[in-house]
Amino acid sequence: MTGSVFDVQRFSIHDGPGIRTTVFMKGCSLRCQWCHNPESFNGKAELEYFTGKCTSCGRCAAVCPEKAMVAGPEGVRWTRELCALCFSCVDACLNEARVRVGEEKDSADIMKTVLRDMPFYKNSGGGVTFSGGEPLLQIDFLLEMLKIAKDNGMHTVVETAGNVSEKSFERVIGLVDLFLFDLKLMDRERHRTVTSVSNERILDNLQRLDKAGAEILVRIPVIPGMNDDDENMEATAAFLTGTTSIRRVELLPYHNMAGHKYAGLGLENPTKDFSMLPTGKLDALYEILRRSGMNGSPG
Ligand code: SF4
Ligand code: SF4
Repeated sequence: MTGSVFDVQRFSIHDGPGIRTTVFMKGCSLRCQWCHNPESFNGKAELEYFTGKCTSCGRCAAVCPEKAMVAGPEGVRWTRELCALCFSCVDACLNEARVRVGEEKDSADIMKTVLRDMPFYKNSGGGVTFSGGEPLLQIDFLLEMLKIAKDNGMHTVVETAGNVSEKSFERVIGLVDLFLFDLKLMDRERHRTVTSVSNERILDNLQRLDKAGAEILVRIPVIPGMNDDDENMEATAAFLTGTTSIRRVELLPYHNMAGHKYAGLGLENPTKDFSMLPTGKLDALYEILRRSGMNGSPG
């Protein structure tokens, strides 16, 4: 079976324990304003155009069957609406100014790549991580890869934003050693404003996973002015201490590094005016978690 994937990253050390291979799957049902992977929003393949790398040579315009690009004295003008995503221009461009994001890949082929690093996983306690986007949106494809991983004795991690059907979690739970579960905001309306969806289903799914005995590490991206207030962290701690066994929380400090990706995809960059977290802020938020009995520390 095939699915839509935008990257397979070997030797990853931030997506679960040990050395891992992370499979980034395309498609997400949230639109978090701070997202650093906007190429994951759309479930289908896309074309990025990086104007800073373009030398206006016109090679792309020459091969475009849709006349979506026109070469002129001021460079190449691209009309995205005319683009049929044939990706001929990607091969034609010698400067990597045109980049394809996302491909339909076979689950067995991906897992062949993942299996190559088995000795590293064994020595480091690592394995495979499925991330995105939202990997659970491609549930059948994900299931196939998880089964292959488990047949080969591999440690498995699924990173999720939780906004999928309860059934999807039920189908994978027996094959997942650790869920990296992203939480953003506890207030329902604030959550809707900055992610485009309510957090009801997300919190329900987290509680259900907990009750079902899943191993869960909650991860919270901390975004200045969006969710870095004490009130939100206190509400998060109160919610988590009410669960049976979720006690591990990792705070992920915001880094503004995705501007070029938004530009490449022709999207407005919602992060352009975001500031960095003030010094000491993360420690103060960890302290709130610790006071509530959470194991609030990196990793
Ligand atoms: S992907 Fe194909 S249709 Fe789109 S701009 Fe490139 S060559 Fe033209
Ligand atoms: S082929 Fe590449 S460098 Fe040349 S005009 Fe097209 S995008 Fe620019």
